[in-house]
Amino acid sequence: MLQNIRVVLVNTSHPGNIGGAARAMKNMGLSRLVLVDPLDFPSHEASARASGADDVLENVQVVATLEEALVGTTMVLGTSARERRIPWPLLDPRECGSKSVEEAAQVGGEVALVFGREHAGLTNEELQRCHFHVHIPSNPDFSSLNLGAAVQVLAYEVRMAWLAAEGQASKTEKVEVASVKSAELSTSDEMERFYDHLESTLVEIGFLDPQSPRHLMARLRRLYGRSSVAKAEMNILRGILTETQKVARGEPHKRKD
Ligand code: SAH
Repeated sequence: MLQNIRVVLVNTSHPGNIGGAARAMKNMGLSRLVLVDPLDFPSHEASARASGADDVLENVQVVATLEEALVGTTMVLGTSARERRIPWPLLDPRECGSKSVEEAAQVGGEVALVFGREHAGLTNEELQRCHFHVHIPSNPDFSSLNLGAAVQVLAYEVRMAWLAAEGQASKTEKVEVASVKSAELSTSDEMERFYDHLESTLVEIGFLDPQSPRHLMARLRRLYGRSSVAKAEMNILRGILTETQKVARGEPHKRKD
């Protein structure tokens, strides 16, 4: 089940931190590391700091964009050294551990834990791609942990939640918790295509003014991000958008009058 939880590092500058993250992951039983456009990788320093977690580095997936790193995910958790970068559902590391494990245990459940740049963290746009934000409740006057240390904290919480779930599972039959199984949920890439379609439709009907967007798309992302949209529901939403565009363009559409 832990193989359904991937760690995504965005634009990491120091290869030592990549190695440190790989080691932290392997210690806690996580194995899937995805690097988004790292500055310096592969590197000897990464292998040195991984000290024995070379298999995690060997199987690393290097991609160019966050979007690629998130393909197939059903839950994305983004970390931030500051408590509230933007208003968003916020979890502490313990809640992050249990939510991740709960999701990864579902059929088709795929979780990403996303970590930002050493100097700048994640951008607001990147944070808006996440269903939840996770903040490690550190000293507010010195809140930013080393990247590898931050990976360690969350990987530990994932392991604790996993161990607790394993214990429970051996005692009782696992009950299906979610009403919609994760295999039936829209993935992050399907949601991204939906947001593109929604945005272009809202511009076409004049609801969204590209000159003055007023955070509309961010608010809508937050709304749909809370909603666990099933694939069948996504078909309905996309269908509504397509018909709306036809009406706006004066093309033949379903309405009879
Ligand atoms: N100056 C940056 C700090 C980035 S630290 C900023 O203010 O955002 C590098 C990464 O480590 C962060 O993007 C995050 O992924 C992780 N991290 C560091 N401290 C954290 C904390 N207290 N809570 C959650 N993640 C943290």
